[in-house]
Amino acid sequence: MIARVTLDIAIGKEFDYLIPEELEDEIEVGTRVKVPFSRREVLGSVTALCAQSEHENIRQILKIIGNQSLLTAKVLRLARWIGDYYCCPAETALKSVLPETVRKEQKGWRERLFVRALPHADAIPKLTKRQTELWNVVQSRGELPLRELLDLTQSTSATVRKIEDLGLVSIQLKISERDPYANEVILPTQSLGLNSDQAIALRRITEAFDRSTASSAEIIPKSSCNETAASARNRTDDPATFLLHGVTGSGKTEVYLQAIAHALNLGKGAIVLVPEISLTPQTVERFKARFSSGPLRTLVAVLHSHLSSGERHDEWHKIRQGRARIVIGARSAIFAPVDPLGLIIVDEEHEHSYKQEEAPRYHARDVAVKRGTDEGAVVVLGSATPSMESYFNARRGKYALLEMPVRADDKRMPIVRVVDMRSEAKAEKGVPIFSSVLKEAIARRLERKEQVMLFLNRRGYAASLQCPLCGFVAGCPNCSVPLTYHRKIESVCCHICGHSAEAPKICPETKCRNPAIRFGGLGTERVEETLSRLFPEARTVRMDSDTLKRKEDYRRILGDFRTGKIDLLLGTQMIAKGLHFPNVTLVGIIYADLSLHMPDFRAAERTFQLLTQVAGRAGRGDVEGEVIVQAFTPFHPAIQYARRHDFLGFYEQEIEFREQLKYPPIARAAMLTLRGRNEDKAKFSAEHLKRLIEKEIPGIPDLIIAGPAPSPLLRAETYYRYQIMLRTARMTKLTERLAPVLKSLTLPEDVRLTVDIDPVNLM
Ligand code: ADP
Ligand code: ZN
Repeated sequence: MIARVTLDIAIGKEFDYLIPEELEDEIEVGTRVKVPFSRREVLGSVTALCAQSEHENIRQILKIIGNQSLLTAKVLRLARWIGDYYCCPAETALKSVLPETVRKEQKGWRERLFVRALPHADAIPKLTKRQTELWNVVQSRGELPLRELLDLTQSTSATVRKIEDLGLVSIQLKISERDPYANEVILPTQSLGLNSDQAIALRRITEAFDRSTASSAEIIPKSSCNETAASARNRTDDPATFLLHGVTGSGKTEVYLQAIAHALNLGKGAIVLVPEISLTPQTVERFKARFSSGPLRTLVAVLHSHLSSGERHDEWHKIRQGRARIVIGARSAIFAPVDPLGLIIVDEEHEHSYKQEEAPRYHARDVAVKRGTDEGAVVVLGSATPSMESYFNARRGKYALLEMPVRADDKRMPIVRVVDMRSEAKAEKGVPIFSSVLKEAIARRLERKEQVMLFLNRRGYAASLQCPLCGFVAGCPNCSVPLTYHRKIESVCCHICGHSAEAPKICPETKCRNPAIRFGGLGTERVEETLSRLFPEARTVRMDSDTLKRKEDYRRILGDFRTGKIDLLLGTQMIAKGLHFPNVTLVGIIYADLSLHMPDFRAAERTFQLLTQVAGRAGRGDVEGEVIVQAFTPFHPAIQYARRHDFLGFYEQEIEFREQLKYPPIARAAMLTLRGRNEDKAKFSAEHLKRLIEKEIPGIPDLIIAGPAPSPLLRAETYYRYQIMLRTARMTKLTERLAPVLKSLTLPEDVRLTVDIDPVNLM
């Protein structure tokens, strides 16, 4: 037998190896193996088995790594699709699919010594006081780690050996699993009674399950099976991908939980994707709590980037071994080896963090839909502000639309007021940070002992440092952006590459030397300063990546806010997501235009989403909430539709703009970026590539080739970047034809090409 193997070291192709006879029964698709490669021994994954090879002199597999094949055939197929669709080599795709920590040759389990009480018929031999103490602990616990026993009893391992010799206990090396949530106390919860929108959503989801189970089950007689499949085909719920459009607080999570219960009941598992930033202990707890007891009890594995590699290893294997039937995690959890898989939930499906910004540049939501379709799993995409892509798909019947337009607790949506900062600026002769409306509203809420959240999506003190006399602007030496001024550390910093330098006190231009150098634009640090002047009594805390130094800080600050130790929470987008504080009655958005004027066709969509998300933080308790939005373009549709909580209105006018320019979701986009330290070389290479595409990719009638043009951020981290954007409705066809073109492309040594299919970040 021959095994086809993808090697971990990136080579861009696969190699055939002979399977030694003694391993014939053990090697299957997905097995990890060690093989000879030139003069080295390297690791790889078996991706296919064949009877013969077209190559000669093929070498033998050396050994198997681990005792279970790690990749299921299904996940392997998914990795291949990612390679093809996102234009990257198979082993790059495989890297994302199998986490580093489970690929290693060494065993990843942590082993520890455990002490176990042995059954004993006869009377216990006479023991010393120390020994009795030890024995009592072991007996009451049954089994426990040696380390813990020693800590509890303050004794030595010699004493434990003694009672082992007496035949009372055994000491054994055993796997001890790491549990990132070991210290949390989790109280079981029961299903809530659903309101009618929730009940309808759940029913349609569970019906889709039952259909997919019926059409894949062999036990059902052929005639009735056909019937089920035929009647199913007439429904919009088939293929079973749902878009659950539910306003903030409409109770989407409860629908997810009950849908998962349904999957478990059918003997299937579930994957829940949550944006990294929303993956808080509270979120995880809601899922663990529901499935911590009762007949559907199962482990809930958690996968995210803050786990230690040991924790990730153990969580992954809990899933692979089928002990954890539910996985909750960020982007890469979409590859979790849940089998059989019944349900995939993608919460906050519009979030850009689902897109991986390095190869393989996959979008976890789109991979979820693909995986669901391939494995017959139901997919639920949930959001209060669906992406244009998903809503478009729902509109044309590719996804089934579920709507939950009201809050589960019947609370009203907050009142949103938009303040025109242009007239404020006129009245105040200069741009104030706070309009009088917002200032008064804050004072009123603080007086009533209610809480306030303020939001500005830029950290630092000032957006730039400039000289009003000669026009000097402190710029990054590596990137084409101005440096942000940070007052506390008296530095100017680049938010792209991290460059930081001491802030100049006078204009550094030798001919100028103006001492009155000034700041332009504002950041959270400056807002904080103004707040403490305006409201000295209030307990104000700023939360952005500058104030969060350790990973516990985030939890601590949110905890303090929840328990009322903080009156005013000011922050960047970090505080916009999924947080639920009943006593917050006022949310202020300092500068809503900030995201509106980005050179990105999604700028309006992003602003609409952000405003809606932030507004959703207000009034989740008993007192009605209020939102104040300060803007210089108050009549922009993104702001006005957000003010009216009108998603559909926003969608209708936005889709028209996309239609006119054939931007996604009307067409799909591919971004080819050439980057190099020499600007001309990057530019010429981009022009060369464009000509090649024009020549080599005929037969895609709707293909638009835009560019090459400099990236909106021409220079980043010392590299100049030039972009070509391709747009077509037939992306699969395009990537298929693009692959050989890119393979044949020769570039100057110091110019690199990146290919980003369905790009999210255009900078
Ligand atoms: P979403 O995820 O849509 O923002 P959540 O699932 O967080 O909303 O629900 C908001 C609040 O409403 C939560 O406190 C939740 O416990 C509560 N809730 C959800 N469904 C119901 C229900 N059917 N009856 C009562 N309360 C509910
Ligand atoms: Zn920089």
